[in-house]
Amino acid sequence: MMLRRVVYISQSRVGADRAALDAIVEVSSARNAVDGITGMLWSDDQMFVQALEGGHEEVGGAMERIQGDPRHDAIEIVDDRSVQTRMFGTWSMVRADAEEEAIHSTAYLVGFIGQQGTPIADRVREVLLSSQPAKTDAFVEQ
Ligand code: FAD
Repeated sequence: MMLRRVVYISQSRVGADRAALDAIVEVSSARNAVDGITGMLWSDDQMFVQALEGGHEEVGGAMERIQGDPRHDAIEIVDDRSVQTRMFGTWSMVRADAEEEAIHSTAYLVGFIGQQGTPIADRVREVLLSSQPAKTDAFVEQ
């Protein structure tokens, strides 16, 4: 079955509000589990970078809800394509509080984005590389 993968970047409107971030992760992971969507949500308090993988209909529905969400704006699609296999699908649903794991997740995302070779992907890669590791949370979600 062909799947859809969407990767986007957006400007966070919740800043360093932990409770708001927790609420986003909680609702997203519960909803994604029902919809068979896997992926990763990364934030450094200013930006979100999210990868979503799943059925075309399910990912389309999630993107519609996400694009109308006032907790972020200036959404730009980095990648949107049909794929046969999930590249973020083995991540389980945990927020990586440990710095080591946050760096690991960020490195994975940097590697993935670096392969896209488009101007926006290069810009996102710069954002990821220039973020402060100590301030960075990487969430993984299912
Ligand atoms: P409802 O919960 O019924 O909410 C109605 C409206 O209010 C929606 O527009 C909603 O976006 C908005 N809203 C909800 N809570 C708040 C709040 N606390 N403050 C301000 N506005 C609010 N959802 C997924 O299903 N999968 C994802 O992977 C996913 N990733 C997300 C990533 C980011 C960065 C953000 C900001 C949100 C994400 N969401 C995700 C949440 C998504 O935008 C919807 O809020 C959620 O799917 C519930 O949709 P709903 O139509 O049932 O909205």
